[in-house]
Amino acid sequence: MNIRSGQFICLMAASIAAAGIGQAQNVPPDHPSVTVNGKTYTPRSVLDRNQGKGTDTPGGDMVTQFPPHKIIGNVYYVGSKTLSSFLIVTPEGDILIDSGYERSVRSIVEKSVGELGFKFSDIKMVLNNHDHGDHAEGDALVKELTAAKVIEIAEGVPGLKRIMPGGKEHPIDQVIHDGDTVTLGGTTLVAHLMQGHAAGGTTWTMKATEGGKTYDVVFFTSIRPPGKISPATLTQYNHTFPLARALPCDVPLEDHAQAYGMQEKYAKIRKGGANPFVDPMGCLLETDMEDSMVHAILQEQEQASHQASN
Ligand SMILES: [Zn+2]
Repeated sequence: MNIRSGQFICLMAASIAAAGIGQAQNVPPDHPSVTVNGKTYTPRSVLDRNQGKGTDTPGGDMVTQFPPHKIIGNVYYVGSKTLSSFLIVTPEGDILIDSGYERSVRSIVEKSVGELGFKFSDIKMVLNNHDHGDHAEGDALVKELTAAKVIEIAEGVPGLKRIMPGGKEHPIDQVIHDGDTVTLGGTTLVAHLMQGHAAGGTTWTMKATEGGKTYDVVFFTSIRPPGKISPATLTQYNHTFPLARALPCDVPLEDHAQAYGMQEKYAKIRKGGANPFVDPMGCLLETDMEDSMVHAILQEQEQASHQASN
């Protein structure tokens, strides 16, 4: 299957239960709702937050450049208004986490790297948050333009191979496993397999230094649940949530930028003062919310099957 729309595949998981494969609805339900830290969320509101206005249609937030900026130390934001791409700059070349949509590679990622004063051709490695097209569709084009190595966790390889924009084979140059490290120019990233949303869900962690202090930076993988939670998926979440809570974290980052309040934090940088991306209190917001959501969905499922059996 040639999947050109990452939005389709991300939405597909959320809507299979209601619509069946091949008739995916574009909008998940507006229930159940959970309230975490004074904010109420539903599956629909989370997807709306993740995608923003206009989603991936021309002019939509997912495909519109956001001002590129430094996050902390050698970590930079080079993504769209709602879809993250991160650049990690080292003396021996740079690492890109998430190429995004293929059509955004030149217009957003390459442009942002250049605007920050770096060279796109210095990208030596491409890492992925998870094996869905909105985050990884551009891998082949980035490789074509930079000769970077595409590195993927073993569990994500089948999903990544199905992402073939224009029929191009998805490049995978190195397969890694849970707990493996990737090092370039003195920066080491650790891969943590966190399944639930995607088979290859990978949270990357690294240390960044700024102002003489060292910070734990966490590139959280998406943990947004599908519309129907199977026992196998629940087993994955029961592994993923405690793992997310155990990671040392000062700077929480997410594959969909508004999950860490990127736009609001960016507005604070411009006012000066402490680095707003240092936000240890924000590290577990997404985990707490999606943990509650998974259990609220399970409760709905149980009620529905109880009613059906009565
Ligand atoms: Zn996804």
